[in-house]
Amino acid sequence: MSKLNELSITEAAKKLAAGEVTSLQLVEACLAEIEKRNPSLNAYLEVFSDAKEQAQEADRRRAAGESRPLLGIPLAIKDNILIEGRTASAASKMLEHYVATYDATVIAKLKKEGAVFIGRTNMDEFAHGSSTENSAFGPTKNPHDESRVPGGSSGGSAAAVAAGMALGALGTDTGGSIREPASFTGLVGLKPTYGAVSRSGLMAMGSSLDQAGPLTRTVADAELIFNAIRGKDALDSTTIDSDFYPKRSAPKKIGVPRHLLERGLDADVLERFEQSLETLRASGYETVDIELPLAGLALAVYYVIMPAEVSTNLARFDGVRYGLSHKGENLFDDYAKSRGSGFGPEARRRIMLGTYVLSSGYYDAYYGKATVARAQLRAEVLRTLEQVDLIATPTTTSPATKLGEKTDDPLAMYLLDIFTVTANLTGNPAISVPMGTVEREGKALPVGIQLTAAHGDEAALFAAAKQIEK
Ligand code: GLN
Repeated sequence: MSKLNELSITEAAKKLAAGEVTSLQLVEACLAEIEKRNPSLNAYLEVFSDAKEQAQEADRRRAAGESRPLLGIPLAIKDNILIEGRTASAASKMLEHYVATYDATVIAKLKKEGAVFIGRTNMDEFAHGSSTENSAFGPTKNPHDESRVPGGSSGGSAAAVAAGMALGALGTDTGGSIREPASFTGLVGLKPTYGAVSRSGLMAMGSSLDQAGPLTRTVADAELIFNAIRGKDALDSTTIDSDFYPKRSAPKKIGVPRHLLERGLDADVLERFEQSLETLRASGYETVDIELPLAGLALAVYYVIMPAEVSTNLARFDGVRYGLSHKGENLFDDYAKSRGSGFGPEARRRIMLGTYVLSSGYYDAYYGKATVARAQLRAEVLRTLEQVDLIATPTTTSPATKLGEKTDDPLAMYLLDIFTVTANLTGNPAISVPMGTVEREGKALPVGIQLTAAHGDEAALFAAAKQIEK
């Protein structure tokens, strides 16, 4: 039997139901691993001091007859998701001491299910990044090779699960922040259909792009968490019911945009990708080559629209209403001092970029054009998903990169998101599933395959992902 902290949620839930283990034992196993590994991995910014009490409460609920699948399961929560009464800093100096005054809807739902929150996890500040190196509280390391990044921005959540310090985690994904760290740490990561999961109580990054979702060891686990957190929510008017999009028949046909794989992809990553396609064919799927001519624009479109929304969303941190506050000579000076010292370099870069593309002189040239291109990209993906049920690409072009390798070159960092941003721009659901490992400097590093489905068709993702997982 694997150790308790290494069980999948599904396995742990079975053992809990059979009375073979208690939630307290699961939590203690995770806490022991945290003590061993977190000091060097830096996956958790805070381990909640009441984790054991939460577990005991879950055990009591079970003893009283409750039997929900997530009851008593220890989960890690990304630090930009609000839990009432607990600090939520988004890994920023700006919110270092900010205490949430209400539960995010996803948290309220998980509390109802009886999940145990072990702690809050490190991330790129305000979710800006692909490596967790933009945290104001130091980078997180990849448990498979500590000289490498775990991906980002949900790198702390990914490292926590990959290292056996939680059984599953919540992350958020604006341009790949669940899927890319899943790929780099050997986990399953789901970015749900836009609107499937409420954004109430998530710290907004790009409001038209953001979704919360699971990082787990298995596809079944991701499905379990997704089903627990999804649903229409009065607190987020963009949410939809699970039957909002028409039901589609069982997925059979997978489109592969080969023209996107011709450049910039590591040869062994491409090899793993081809093997996974072979596995899918062996289990009854057909694969066909497709063209996505506009996909090449996705990264450029994303890096205009996202900073525009970031600059708007971060405007609320003015040194008056929330978090860090420095007094200056006058009100403008208060803003400048508070924002200048509260935000790290990447957040400041995005605020400036976003303000620029939204400014009256440049709106038409940048933001206006990007929104048109986004609509065309969405139409292209929609048309393609009339012809095929799923679109497959690698999640990332390479395995996890070295710590520091891309920190001096923001554009190189942005390029890591080449395959993931499209699903956020179009609102489609996408999943990253482990497709084996590639070797770098004697270490086996995981890589993931990404599948994208039609809006509302997470079921197609889970079905195909389970075949790859086998
Ligand atoms: N890496 C992307 C970025 O830096 C995505 C971030 C995210 O999904 N939160 O914008």
